[in-house]
Amino acid sequence: MLIDSHAHLEMPEFKKDLEAVIHRAKKSGVEYIFTVGTEKKDWSRALEIALNHPAVYAILGVHPHNAKEVDDQTYPMLKGLCQNEKVKAYGEIGLDFFRNLSPRNIQLKRFREQIGFAKELSLPIVVHDRAAHRETLEVLKSEKAEDCGGIIHCFSGDYEMAVACMDMGFYISIPGSITFKSAESAREIIAKIPLESLLLETDAPFLTPEPFRGKRNEPSYVRYTAQKVAEIKRVSYEKVAEVTTENALRVYRLKL
Ligand SMILES: [Zn+2]
Ligand SMILES: [Zn+2]
Repeated sequence: MLIDSHAHLEMPEFKKDLEAVIHRAKKSGVEYIFTVGTEKKDWSRALEIALNHPAVYAILGVHPHNAKEVDDQTYPMLKGLCQNEKVKAYGEIGLDFFRNLSPRNIQLKRFREQIGFAKELSLPIVVHDRAAHRETLEVLKSEKAEDCGGIIHCFSGDYEMAVACMDMGFYISIPGSITFKSAESAREIIAKIPLESLLLETDAPFLTPEPFRGKRNEPSYVRYTAQKVAEIKRVSYEKVAEVTTENALRVYRLKL
């Protein structure tokens, strides 16, 4: 049994064949999928998919790309939606200094205030950090993110950053890109992180693992990431599946 701890089933890439995608995931041993609604137009859809499928849960929040779109209605709306018991975390929130789709000062402001908001909601956070490792860590520390805990998704920092995040009780989530030939340094870092702190994710429709790189990603492909983690850590596939599943259930506070 596997868990895809982070996907985007509400995105248009899944509009035509969502049911088949969820069915294939189930057949591949993916017990649960956590779908992440990143902006206003996607929140209700993400929750609707979760409500219609026992295997799907929702995560809602304002992505750093959309930080500039926050207005008076944003948090009241999210507050209402997040009361639903199918919402298991708050996010993805954080910093993206690679694409800079929102100004950096606004990204920082929204990241900080959303950590506080997640604490109010009693939800763990899902953190997006791209090309902003130092600033992400600074905000997590100064906002006392250890009070809510959560996940650093698509982790791309160095080992020191991983340790600092684990010290705050965060899990490190590994995407399909670790199967890429070029990901040697990421594999070296993962080799050093205890399995007890790792989660697996697809971030579908993005970051498709080998052997399907270049095609649309989907939750059933999380098994290729599990396979790669097993190779890196020299343990069985079953062990990786078992421990990462337990980790995901723990952080999302789910019982089997
Ligand atoms: Zn992300
Ligand atoms: Zn994502």
